[in-house]
Amino acid sequence: MTHEDYIKLAMEEAQKAADRGGAPFGVVVINKEGDVVWRDHDRVNEHVDPTAHGEINAIRGLCKKLNTLKLREYTFYTTSEPCPTCLTACIKAQVPTIYYGAPTEETASLPIKALELVQRSKKYPISVVGGILEKECLAQREQLLK
Ligand SMILES: [Zn+2]
Repeated sequence: MTHEDYIKLAMEEAQKAADRGGAPFGVVVINKEGDVVWRDHDRVNEHVDPTAHGEINAIRGLCKKLNTLKLREYTFYTTSEPCPTCLTACIKAQVPTIYYGAPTEETASLPIKALELVQRSKKYPISVVGGILEKECLAQREQLLK
């Protein structure tokens, strides 16, 4: 599967989130073999938890399932640029790479670019690469946020 294929799966998760009254953000996690090991989405309203973003839910679920605090072997795909909360959580979990679709909105609650935080992560280096199906992810987000 390609980066685009994984982002498409993340977009399906974003749609699920929106269908369930959440914000349209989806995430897919793959292992080194390229197998999808976790799919999740925003569950802030569902869990009545302001931190229940897709990446956070995936980290919580996967760490518990694997009984580990380290996700060094896993790659995250998200529909939108990870917010500072999620990016920090990924750094804490030692996730090495995140691919995302569309950049964060200027109106986000804390619009700090992922790359700004990435540059400061010395202990657990992380690579964040955006722009995969950017137009599609942005169009989906704008449509579902209406
Ligand atoms: Zn987040």
